[in-house]
Amino acid sequence: MFPEERFPLDPALWFATATAAPDTPTLDKSVSADIVIIGAGYAGLSTALHLAEQGLRPIIVDARQIGFGGSGRNGGQLVPGLKWDPDAIIKKFGPDHGNRLVKFAANTASTVFSLIDRYAMDVPTVRNGWIQPAHNEEGLRLARSRSRQWQEHGADVQLLSADETRRMLGSQAYRGGWLDKRGGGLQPLTYVRELARIAIQLGVDIYTDTPVSDISKTPEGWKVTTTTGAIISTEKVVVCTNAYSDGIWPGLKETVVDPNTYQTATEILPSHIEQSIFPEGHVASDTRNLLLYFRKDHTGRFIMGGRGPFREPKSLNDWAHLKRAALRMYPQLAQIKWEFHWCGRVAVTRDFYPHLHEPAPGLLIDIGCQGRGIGLQTTMGQAIAQYLVTGNKEALPVPTTLIKPIPLHNLRKLYVSAVATWYRLNDAR
Ligand SMILES: Cc1cc2nc3c(=O)[nH]c(=O)nc-3n(C[C@H](O)[C@H](O)[C@H](O)COP(=O)(O)OP(=O)(O)OC[C@H]3O[C@@H](n4cnc5c(N)ncnc54)[C@H](O)[C@@H]3O)c2cc1C
Repeated sequence: MFPEERFPLDPALWFATATAAPDTPTLDKSVSADIVIIGAGYAGLSTALHLAEQGLRPIIVDARQIGFGGSGRNGGQLVPGLKWDPDAIIKKFGPDHGNRLVKFAANTASTVFSLIDRYAMDVPTVRNGWIQPAHNEEGLRLARSRSRQWQEHGADVQLLSADETRRMLGSQAYRGGWLDKRGGGLQPLTYVRELARIAIQLGVDIYTDTPVSDISKTPEGWKVTTTTGAIISTEKVVVCTNAYSDGIWPGLKETVVDPNTYQTATEILPSHIEQSIFPEGHVASDTRNLLLYFRKDHTGRFIMGGRGPFREPKSLNDWAHLKRAALRMYPQLAQIKWEFHWCGRVAVTRDFYPHLHEPAPGLLIDIGCQGRGIGLQTTMGQAIAQYLVTGNKEALPVPTTLIKPIPLHNLRKLYVSAVATWYRLNDAR
């Protein structure tokens, strides 16, 4: 069921610079547990860690390795908030629930930084803020609206002039923007491995190379079957497979589109070039519909990310547009070698909100990170743990909803490619 050779993780820059993963066995015998969590990314590990803090001993199983999904491949940009801004959130959910969701969204980056501090995790981080530079007039309007809305909710954000944006980016390519000082950056694979190390210390059992092939209801609770021959009997199951979901529950994969996003990173930059790019240590993703996200990592490499082909990459040509964009912004990179090329899938829901489903009592599913999952999924895990311990649904940031597959989902590749072309033309204009 799980396609064995899809999406290798090792071309990712993070694989070359991360701390080692904790040793984790494969599960090949039947066991029982209070709670089984499927997926060892930020969501699954954060759920487990926060459950273990409450004295529970959940089991996590992952089809591959810790951080094999988005958690080991992302851009490492800690961006607070959701895809939607506070006004839209409150309009959709009403003042009571809406304000709770805004508060949740406001705290996603700080939840990660506090967790790293609380457990003295050895994760390279920068905490100087996230910039959203504006590529055109519409982008400037967006920046003004976003910074105003977040200021009204007490967030430490500011509108940036064209000069300030250019100074902070070290690039002339943008017309202004806004700075969200709650954001920052980190080494994403080290972070997910550190979450796993701490979870294990707190008593969580993590099993890797253990794909789940079936989840079924029993008179006593649930039965989770793996392709390695194990059956786990449990009271509760939490599914955290996100964009890497593959038939694990009927209709689930069809509730999201899962486009690939591509990244490329340079060799370590010579110091005079390194100092000319993000001289104050910010990270950035811009206002384009097909956004470009870029930063330096802790080793002094430049990383450029953005949308590419929906399919898996065929050659280095699939990253050529990102290198061209980087050179337009930073001509000083002209003689620099691009050393790493990788990609990964993000789960996008129809309404651009994260989704929680509870198709039957004792089974909770978390899906749809919209490409902002470092903070979102860590904080979601904390909320899920609180819900599982207290039974209080108010602990969850969004209501649980029915699983509703996107109509004509099998045409999603065509649909995403058509929308991407449309956006590319608009962004260019
Ligand atoms: C290239 C890229 C760039 C991104 N950039 C950013 C960024 O800069 N900032 C940001 O905040 N977010 C970013 N994101 C999004 C972020 O990485 C994800 O939202 C986040 O990692 C999702 O975490 P998760 O725990 O929900 O799922 P994942 O980390 O995807 O974990 C899902 C896990 O489920 C496992 N699994 C799947 N099926 C099964 C099965 N049948 N049995 C057992 N296990 C199974 C997989 O092996 C996988 O390990 C990016 C994503 C990508 C791909």
